[in-house]
Amino acid sequence: MATVSIRKNDEVEVISGKDKGRRGRVVNVLPKKNRIMVEAVARATRHTRPTKARMQGGLVQKEQFIDLSNVQVVCKACGKPTRIGHRTEDGVKVRICRRCEGEV
Ligand SMILES: [Zn+2]
Repeated sequence: MATVSIRKNDEVEVISGKDKGRRGRVVNVLPKKNRIMVEAVARATRHTRPTKARMQGGLVQKEQFIDLSNVQVVCKACGKPTRIGHRTEDGVKVRICRRCEGEV
């Protein structure tokens, strides 16, 4: 099984589908299902009922899970979406950008 290199709070760019080119922060990852939830990506409107916690029901915008293969991590060094590689430095595994070899 491939290791999932994307983590919560990473900035990612959508590389396919209707949200292609959109960037956002990772809010949730389901590694076993290869699904990911990204802030402001794949939003769908849902009708909600009023609850005790939230008195007002109505329309709520909620992100849907999308396939992990539809996104790439944005490299902090070169600012581009990239595939992630790994390198071991002083016994610590770090993620590197396959474009610029910089640490992601
Ligand atoms: Zn890079």
